[in-house]
Amino acid sequence: MLQFVSNKGGGEPVDFETAILDGFAVDGGLYVPETLPQITHNHLKKWKDLSYVDLAFEILSLFIDRSIISEKDLKKILQLSYAPFEKHEIIPLYPLQSRKDTYVMELFHGPTISFKDVGLAFLVNLVNFFLERKNEHLTLVVATTGDTGPATAYFAAGKSNLDAWVLYPKGLITEEQERQMTTLQQSNIHPVGVANCPDGGDDLDLVISKLYANTAFKEKLKLSSVNSINWGRVMMQTVHYFYGYLQVVNQIGEEINFSVPSGGFGNLCAGALAREMGLPIKYLVAANNKNACLHRIFSEGRFSKDKIHETVSSAIDILIPFNFWRFLYFRMNKDANKVKKWMDTFKDTGLVEFDKETFETYKKGFLSNSSNDIETLDTIHEIYKNEDYLLDPHGAVSLHATDVLKNKLEGNKLICLATAHPAKFPNVIQKALKINKLPKNATHFSINEAKRFCEKVHLCDHQYLEEALIHAMETNWDLTKGK
Ligand SMILES: *Cc1c(COP(=O)(O)O)cnc(C)c1O
Repeated sequence: MLQFVSNKGGGEPVDFETAILDGFAVDGGLYVPETLPQITHNHLKKWKDLSYVDLAFEILSLFIDRSIISEKDLKKILQLSYAPFEKHEIIPLYPLQSRKDTYVMELFHGPTISFKDVGLAFLVNLVNFFLERKNEHLTLVVATTGDTGPATAYFAAGKSNLDAWVLYPKGLITEEQERQMTTLQQSNIHPVGVANCPDGGDDLDLVISKLYANTAFKEKLKLSSVNSINWGRVMMQTVHYFYGYLQVVNQIGEEINFSVPSGGFGNLCAGALAREMGLPIKYLVAANNKNACLHRIFSEGRFSKDKIHETVSSAIDILIPFNFWRFLYFRMNKDANKVKKWMDTFKDTGLVEFDKETFETYKKGFLSNSSNDIETLDTIHEIYKNEDYLLDPHGAVSLHATDVLKNKLEGNKLICLATAHPAKFPNVIQKALKINKLPKNATHFSINEAKRFCEKVHLCDHQYLEEALIHAMETNWDLTKGK
């Protein structure tokens, strides 16, 4: 049976269920499968015409032993997870008219209209399946730069085996994203708006790690997380690379390129692992905004923490691409000692400068770029004007990167990932299009609907977050579970 280990090498191997329910490995590392399943052209040929859900079933079955989830249950969880998506293709591809062989993969047709729905729909339902079977309860705590929070809250809402605490940096996400969390009425959803976060969403991750380190508290409330430290997120996100590939190629074996608007590297890590599994990908483009953490890694060999820049693509205003360590583990032939040394060095000093050999090894097959706000806004404007198609600011970051890198990418088909619906960023769209009234494709009924509800939210200052949160969480626990 496929076991899961920490990429830092500590602890014992665990089974799939444990890896999912624990989130972090015991040594603070990230869970990875002991070996990556390999796929061949024959697999791809067989999968060519599968629907998204059927393809997901095939790929997940490579990681999940039937003794842990039966075929029937896995199919049921997948169907339940993707039923609320508004397009029957789940993730449709739009061929751009103004760029040759270029497709936009629309990952935003889930209920909270961002790509986070794609991973979290399955992961939250999976966690809930395990909990129901064991008759246990978990408290999920996640931090968000605007999209993880709404998706987690949506899929956890009303599930009696789960409580979800979703932390967001107040003022650094859009009002639309905020209301997606604060207008849910179910009593197991607890949004927390945190004022004065100097480093945005990364600050909240830090506080969550402190809660985890508080063993008595963690045990009492049974804390876990579904952010992209959780293997389930990365695993599920490999599926859209396979799906996109099979949709656009003429012939199995043909190599294509992907461009991905990136922050935490969860999405790109999934693409990189899909390639390691055997999917014919030539280049993966790490598309950053001005917060160029991945661009520095892939162009300079430096994993470093800069100060945060607020940008129009706020969901990727992220300083620490922690999923890079998961990818690096595989690229370095599973040398957990090396990965541990780097991860510890980064934790202690905020900087890792990779030696030349390591740098050359990991950057193979990657390109990167950092776009500024003007370039992002211009890209939205150009595509809207030329083909009446509206990109959100993150989709625009991914397309702009490929415009810059055009000479290196030519000759292969290209898929740009669009990770959010423009309706989540109306002010940015207005600025880009230089108009006051929003076009219809910049609106969404769910965003309008949320305006009709009162907001329900905990608010506090970053300075006091840890104690305020412990207090709020314990009070809720004692009132609802402690009786
Ligand atoms: C989370 C998010 C990203 C970045 O994904 P990572 O896995 O953190 O790299 C990109 N775009 C949007 C809209 C997001 O919400």
